[in-house]
Amino acid sequence: MRSFGYERAGSPQGAAQAGAASGAAFIAGGTNLLDLMKLEVETPTRLVDLGRLDPGGVHPTAEGGLRIGAGVSNSALSADPTVRSQYPLLAQALLAGASPQLRNRATTAGNLLQRTRCVYFYDTASACNKRAPGTGCGAMGGVNRMNAVVGTSSACIAAHPSDMAVAMMALDATVETVTANGAGRRIPITGFYRLPGNTPHLDTVLQPGELITAVTLPPPPPGVQGYRKIRDRASYAFALVSVASIVDGSDGQIRQARFACGGIAPRPWRVEAAEAALTGARADGPALDRACDLLLQGAAGHGYNDFKIPMVRRLVTHVVAQAVRPGQEQRNG
Ligand SMILES: Cc1cc2nc3c(=O)[nH]c(=O)nc-3n(C[C@H](O)[C@H](O)[C@H](O)COP(=O)(O)OP(=O)(O)OC[C@H]3O[C@@H](n4cnc5c(N)ncnc54)[C@H](O)[C@@H]3O)c2cc1C
Repeated sequence: MRSFGYERAGSPQGAAQAGAASGAAFIAGGTNLLDLMKLEVETPTRLVDLGRLDPGGVHPTAEGGLRIGAGVSNSALSADPTVRSQYPLLAQALLAGASPQLRNRATTAGNLLQRTRCVYFYDTASACNKRAPGTGCGAMGGVNRMNAVVGTSSACIAAHPSDMAVAMMALDATVETVTANGAGRRIPITGFYRLPGNTPHLDTVLQPGELITAVTLPPPPPGVQGYRKIRDRASYAFALVSVASIVDGSDGQIRQARFACGGIAPRPWRVEAAEAALTGARADGPALDRACDLLLQGAAGHGYNDFKIPMVRRLVTHVVAQAVRPGQEQRNG
């Protein structure tokens, strides 16, 4: 690991100012950043430690939603009574990630900003446009079982790794930030993550030094919520394919459905047209096939990850059909 400067932030704005300096990086739980520094994948010259800031808590909003502080741990968030009762898919997604020890350290903001698990990103001897722009993409034609099949570019096929972010996408979360000049932004999560295009080194729309202060959720929409994750091991493994879903309907009839997918794209993958195809449709008719076609428009496997395309189709179809099967209890409706 290379040597670096270190300071503890005393206020969000102070953190944003310090974080805007060239070579600076925020550190929250450190469960991703420190690994990347040890491998010299990331080499910040100064760390701005957010550990002394108020984590922010989990509080109801005036609109009937929830405001989650950036520093709230993944464990605390998954155990919050309102999250468990009103946003169960968020609790399920959190508990499907990492391990209890990691979730105790990992924060809401750090989880959103964790970096890809593409093996070529982690291997500094390999070509990787995300880690070292212009060097190429080792995953194309390489060992790409964990990589993305949709939303990719010729420069990068890395998949987004977070389970929690997939749930946040289905829940229409908004990311609140503060910048070095004290201005705040509210960024809908649908516009928070960038697709790789020619600039795969930029994961999000955040500016240098822009600090996440909170994530807000609107009131939960009606319907059965769930997070399903397929992975190589039963625990402590990243998603091959996952689906966060909120499905309103009964007796095989869908009123409305939302679903976001993990493991298949450079960001949590949600396609409005695919959801619209299910509005008012039967779960046993052709609509689910059509919805999956729209979800996966332009999808292409890269060899070892070809299986993800049929796998996500089957998972979405199963999850939606199960949610409206006769006798299924409706929650949050
Ligand atoms: C062995 C292992 C298994 C794992 N398995 C899973 C899994 O199955 N599913 C899953 O989703 N995750 C998994 N993880 C990832 C884990 O969830 C993340 O490491 C964790 O959520 C990151 O949070 P952190 O607070 O530790 O972030 P840090 O490592 O401190 O920071 C991560 C990034 O966020 C930035 N950052 C942090 N806070 C802020 C802020 N307030 N504003 C702006 N930028 C900020 C940092 O600068 C850094 O770039 C696993 C990790 C490990 C080590």
